[in-house]
Amino acid sequence: MKTVTEVLKSATARLEVGAVENPRLDAEILLAHVLKWRRLSLYVDAEKTLPLESILRFNELVNRRLEGIPVAYLVGSKEFMGLSFAVNQNVLIPRPETEILTEFVGEYLRGLGGEVNFADLGVGSGAICISMLKFVKSARASAVDISNEALAVAKFNASKFHVEDRIKFFCGDLLKPLEGQKFNVIVSNPPYIPTLELKKLQIEVKLEPQLALDGGEDGLSFYRRIISDAPRFLVDGGLLAVEIGINQASAVRKLFEQENFVDVTILKDLSGIERIIAGRN
Ligand code: GLN
Repeated sequence: MKTVTEVLKSATARLEVGAVENPRLDAEILLAHVLKWRRLSLYVDAEKTLPLESILRFNELVNRRLEGIPVAYLVGSKEFMGLSFAVNQNVLIPRPETEILTEFVGEYLRGLGGEVNFADLGVGSGAICISMLKFVKSARASAVDISNEALAVAKFNASKFHVEDRIKFFCGDLLKPLEGQKFNVIVSNPPYIPTLELKKLQIEVKLEPQLALDGGEDGLSFYRRIISDAPRFLVDGGLLAVEIGINQASAVRKLFEQENFVDVTILKDLSGIERIIAGRN
């Protein structure tokens, strides 16, 4: 009979040998998932012995992790803004740096006060959009994605977090399905990795939907379309805020300026990388 401590120790060692980036953390998340425990309980009950069946299921997940499948897909969820979003292989796994975009836009909407609306282009799992609805109770959202499979995940999350009455879903290409509407804010974390670089990325990112990552030859093709179309869909003074990839800030700032956006602001992520750019119409 093996204890929690022993099981975690041997899995961590296997993951480490397999060059997994956060071996101990991944082992803990996977074991907590199998046992339906909180991660903290792995410490509180570290000396408990585990049933063989749980150990076998856990080892199976560790094997799949060693094949390169991200932990979030293995457990079917990912924490974002303190909420546990359902995810599957049809959506990009929400990244911690995207919380900066969400907080920034959330604060802006809260500052406007009253009835406010926003559009989220490429909603994916719904992480940005649903967190904002959760934190800004007076807001309504239009969520667009080109993938029906992704929209199914976002719809699931909208009901999980009880915001389905304040969100409308559209299947389509960026702003196209929103023709005729005006928003206080347009937010997007579009695909921004240059096509050739995407091919070089580690296996884990390759298992995520390429549709959510491939930003065309120079990584900027979605920004060109979003930024040139956005003014028609924004109220006067409305805000466009997007996440950007590494070294894209100056090119994207130029696109904002070409379309006469004002107060163009760039925010850095926790690693000091210019990650968010926003401007007012
Ligand atoms: N931040 C993601 C990555 O580097 C990319 C997300 C995107 O293309 N919007 O894997």
